[in-house]
Amino acid sequence: MSTNNAGRKLSLETRAIHAGEPSPRIGGAITLPIFQSSTYESTREDNYHAIPYLRLNNSPNHLSLHAKLADLECTEAGLVTASGMAAITTALLSVLKAGDHLLVQSGLYGGTHTFITHDLPQLGVSFDFVDLNDPGEWQTKLRSNTRAFYAESMTNPLLTVGDLPAVVDFCRENDLVSMIDNTLASPVNFQPATIGFDLVLHSCTKYLNGHSDIVAGAILGNEEHVQAAKLKLDHYGATLDPHACFLLQRGIKTLSLRVNKQNSNAMAVARLLEKHPKVTKVNYAGLPSHVDHHRASKLFRGYGGLLSFDHCEGSLGAHQLIDRLNLVTEAVSLGGTETLATIPAESSHAGVSEAERNAIGIGSGLVRLAIGIEGEQDLLDDFTQALSN
Ligand code: PLP
Repeated sequence: MSTNNAGRKLSLETRAIHAGEPSPRIGGAITLPIFQSSTYESTREDNYHAIPYLRLNNSPNHLSLHAKLADLECTEAGLVTASGMAAITTALLSVLKAGDHLLVQSGLYGGTHTFITHDLPQLGVSFDFVDLNDPGEWQTKLRSNTRAFYAESMTNPLLTVGDLPAVVDFCRENDLVSMIDNTLASPVNFQPATIGFDLVLHSCTKYLNGHSDIVAGAILGNEEHVQAAKLKLDHYGATLDPHACFLLQRGIKTLSLRVNKQNSNAMAVARLLEKHPKVTKVNYAGLPSHVDHHRASKLFRGYGGLLSFDHCEGSLGAHQLIDRLNLVTEAVSLGGTETLATIPAESSHAGVSEAERNAIGIGSGLVRLAIGIEGEQDLLDDFTQALSN
């Protein structure tokens, strides 16, 4: 359900609630119940992958989520997985085979980076990292066996935004599958399929579910790509549990409300921090000072809830600040209702040498904030008091 009776496209807010819901409602239930059944009565299906069995990702909870997420990301089809990493690994393994080569944006989420650099080579897949701002470099690294290009809509923790439309053009010219992790933007701020990306991936653990109470993932794209991913997922077995499906479906219904609030809260916190004498630099694509502000403002409707900043007193200052914040908890992850803080040098980038970290702008005084949906003034007051001590 993506248009109304007059053929007008429904808003994302409306689609998040109504798209993919079963019609007629099952037993009249307004909220799709949890189908806690591993197997279903056979209708003598003609192929293995259509057998109604929980691991084959076709319970009523799964089918409803597939349709809802595909609608939100403007793709033909969707598939949910047991985590964001399950979505990423399954999608990559459905596109790549031994002998293939992959172009990869540098500065990826750590789990994806490890999978590509450690696991793919063991399976006979080679890769090259590329700068997403340098199409000339993509051309020099392109090989006859290059099969796909993997990017992220925004990077963590510096929130850079690459030349995504150029990636799509390059992939089309060279017959590559374009893949993008859209977790940090969420479909509220950006829908990569609308600019031509073939496969859109999510850690639904973050904004889509939005309540820090499950891990889940999604693969969105055309029927052919998503079906190929489903065949792999059916075998790998990384099926999303029905209770987690239920929570994800519930979370998605408030996606727009939450992300719009996170966008505005994050912008307010970024502005406050940028003016503070104890902060030397703020990384938030919504600020005109951010290196990719212009590009992000052309591509995105909002800049998300993630930002990072450098404390002028380095690691000590960063730790003291986090300890003094009353409304902010030190924890990894993002996209939930509560504001969280981490020190990337000690968490996501702990495995990277200090010299390498400093070279890419991740010093030991860098604090990453995953802004929640608390009252804006309460957050501003909390940061002001924590920085003034
Ligand atoms: N992609 C991004 C951008 C992430 O930040 C994360 C997790 O932090 C993942 C993927 C992996 O998601 P999950 O933890 O749900 O497997």
